[in-house]
Order: sequence, then structure tokens, then C-alpha cells
Amino acid sequence: MVIQCCRCGRVRQDDEWIDPADGVEIDQPVSHGYCAPCADAAFGEFLESFPLEAEATPVH
Ligand SMILES: [Zn+2]
Repeated sequence: MVIQCCRCGRVRQDDEWIDPADGVEIDQPVSHGYCAPCADAAFGEFLESFPLEAEATPVH
């Protein structure tokens, strides 16, 4: 089983995220997930979409 980041498309191999464009051959079933940077980015976007009330800018 290979994990492919559904955001940037890199695949995980031996704890490294490699761009398939670099010539990586995927000969196993692919499961989709997020690599660390994309997980952070996706989580950040999620927080921006749903800001916590305490962090919301007061409207004057
Ligand atoms: Zn990614």
C-alpha cells in the first residue's frame, strides 16, 4: 500500500514524500491522504473557513 497526497500528488516512500514526476514507479495499491505540509495547509484553511469565535475580529 502506497500513500499518495491528494493535495500535491507526492507519494510516500520510506518516510519520504516523493514527486511521482521524478520517475517513481507505483506498483502497489494507492491510498490517498495528506503529506505533513499539506496536512498543515489543509488544517490552516479549515481554521480560516471556520474561525474560532474567540479569534474573530470584533465588528465595530
Ligand atoms: Zn502534499
